[in-house]
Amino acid sequence: MSTDIQGTSDRRWLADLRVTLTDEHAAQTARLTELTADTGDPGEAHTRGALIAATRLSQDRIAAALRRIADGRYGTCDTCGAQIPPERLEVVPHARFCVPCQRKHDG
Ligand SMILES: [Zn+2]
Repeated sequence: MSTDIQGTSDRRWLADLRVTLTDEHAAQTARLTELTADTGDPGEAHTRGALIAATRLSQDRIAAALRRIADGRYGTCDTCGAQIPPERLEVVPHARFCVPCQRKHDG
């Protein structure tokens, strides 16, 4: 029997996040289907272009976060390997870098 309470709660937190992200991914997919439906209105299609791009980007980020959860790399900085603070992950669930590395990344 495990006494690793912290580890157990961590996994539960990750499992919950996984469910949330999976739902979010499905929502974005549904949104994309709606956005890409042809309304026959070229003006509207143009306006939708940016929305479609933003939705696809968001969908990609969610998919990447899900892959990281599956790989056990979630919550670890891609650049320096540091733990990304939970407060940051709460705000940016798909964060791949810790705050200092993200700053460097953004230039
Ligand atoms: Zn880092």
